[in-house]
Amino acid sequence: MFKKSKILIIISVVTLVLLTILHGKLIYNTYQLKEKLYLLNAKSEITKIYNSKEIDDLLCEIRNEVLKQSNQLVDSNYDQKTVLLNIKKKSDSINLIFNPKMESKLKERNLNFIISIDLTEFEISDTSKTIAKLIEKGKDNPIFILGRKIKANEEIKINEITWQKELKPFDPSQHYLTLKNRIVIKFNNWNMLIFRDMFFLLFSSFILYAIVIGLLYFSIFNLYKNKRLADIKTDFINNITHELKTPLTTLSITTKTLNKQLELGYISEPIETLQIIDRQNERLQKLIDQVLQNSLGFNDLKISLDDINVQSFLKHLISDFKITLNPNQTIDLTFFSDNQYLLADRFLLTTALTNILDNAAKFGSTRIDVKYDFIKNKGHYISISDNGIGIDQQDIKYVFEKFFRVSENNKHNYKGLGLGLYFAKQIVLAHQGNIKVDSKKGKGTNFTIFIP
Ligand code: ATP
Ligand code: MG
Repeated sequence: MFKKSKILIIISVVTLVLLTILHGKLIYNTYQLKEKLYLLNAKSEITKIYNSKEIDDLLCEIRNEVLKQSNQLVDSNYDQKTVLLNIKKKSDSINLIFNPKMESKLKERNLNFIISIDLTEFEISDTSKTIAKLIEKGKDNPIFILGRKIKANEEIKINEITWQKELKPFDPSQHYLTLKNRIVIKFNNWNMLIFRDMFFLLFSSFILYAIVIGLLYFSIFNLYKNKRLADIKTDFINNITHELKTPLTTLSITTKTLNKQLELGYISEPIETLQIIDRQNERLQKLIDQVLQNSLGFNDLKISLDDINVQSFLKHLISDFKITLNPNQTIDLTFFSDNQYLLADRFLLTTALTNILDNAAKFGSTRIDVKYDFIKNKGHYISISDNGIGIDQQDIKYVFEKFFRVSENNKHNYKGLGLGLYFAKQIVLAHQGNIKVDSKKGKGTNFTIFIP
């Protein structure tokens, strides 16, 4: 089932990526469309401005100057350099009037760009051949004439106009002037302009994407959580069947033996076998109780508070626990604070501490250290540390969860149901305290219980 979900996740992520690419392309297209619209509008407005008398007069003035200078060139009065220089001088003086006029017209129309008019070709020829190429298209850079100079990488070309005129119409020499000029513009604050126009689109896209990604993340997170839960459940079922089977097998063997012995008349009172049955029965009962207690929930845990003398309570607990240890295991109890009294449920606190001690003994330790301290205005601290197998960093956050057990290659090497620490935590929480764990794989584990 999880494999299927994995495929679904991959498909969702791939779809999201494709959708993002497509969406990006659409946004880019919209951007281009907006840009085109701006240019179209600029073009039509510029045409209107050029047709206005004031601007047209100034343009005529510059054309006349070019004509005048060209005639001088044909008559060999001036060389090319001087002609260009003279035209530039004239254009500079016209610009002083042109710029304020143009700018006020642009402002009137609410247009947010600057204009530059450049010469891109300037050629004089007679009927058969070219006489002078003052500006050659494609070879020379355009020469800025009117408006505001715009950097080459920022200019947007609006149009290019060719103008041809016969020089000295009354002279039989038949010379022609060919002039090409272009209009380029540059939008002020182009980025801001386009961003303002596309703000709604960008903003709504962003919000929608955030929602979709959030939902995807949430679904994946949930899926993994459910998988973990399912794994834990399977583990638990495997465990409990194993745990329940062992005493049952022993029980069935002993009953068979008992029957046989009775049949054969070897015994009249099967005392020893009965004891085994009794012990196994008790164990089975305990296991079932544990599972039942858990399924009933520890949430409505009722505690009855006792004023406990910590020193004698812990001493008794440890001496009882010592009996269950192997000969190679030792346990030490240290008090950093004496004569303290603790308000807690004696029975439940014993259960919580025993569960932790059980683990320490079970998970491969040879030495267990129990320490007690009281900190004024805070409360009681009991720490239990061992030098056992330790817990992997990735598992540590799960140890207090119901049914959680660290599994090695999915095979449990130590018996248990994974409920001990869950119970311990519920008990401590019911006392308004907290429990912390700290562990290093292969080195050992430390649990600290705090009760206010
Ligand atoms: P149960 O206590 O129900 O019989 P359990 O001991 O496996 O079963 P918990 O006491 O809840 O369950 O512990 C959960 C898991 O945490 C254990 O299975 C073990 O993997 C890990 N663990 C707990 N205490 C220790 C410890 N002192 N050293 C190493 N691992 C530990
Ligand atoms: Mg345990």
